[in-house]
Amino acid sequence: MQGQKQKCAECNKEHHEEYDRFFCSKKCQDKWDTRYDWQQDHSRESNKGAICPFCEHEHKASGDYPSLYEENTTEFDCENCHKTFEVEPHCEWTWYSRPLDSDYPEEE
Ligand SMILES: [Zn+2]
Ligand SMILES: [Zn+2]
Repeated sequence: MQGQKQKCAECNKEHHEEYDRFFCSKKCQDKWDTRYDWQQDHSRESNKGAICPFCEHEHKASGDYPSLYEENTTEFDCENCHKTFEVEPHCEWTWYSRPLDSDYPEEE
């Protein structure tokens, strides 16, 4: 949008046009990139529940952890090492298909 100044994603200072993305300086861009890589390196994926990226403790998805079923990314406290990490639930689609009732082969 014209007239609206972009803010640096890292330090919230005014965006500098020299940087094509959303940073004010090379320093901020590097900082952001480095942190992003670190996050990727430490991310865990499981279809059973939330795994703590610090101690690998697995919090099995169940009624005990209602926040694991929220649609948005939420912060989660590890019950083993008590560090906080982010959890982003992903829903997997499943398709069930079956014939129509009317196609049931009736016996003579
Ligand atoms: Zn900045
Ligand atoms: Zn932990």
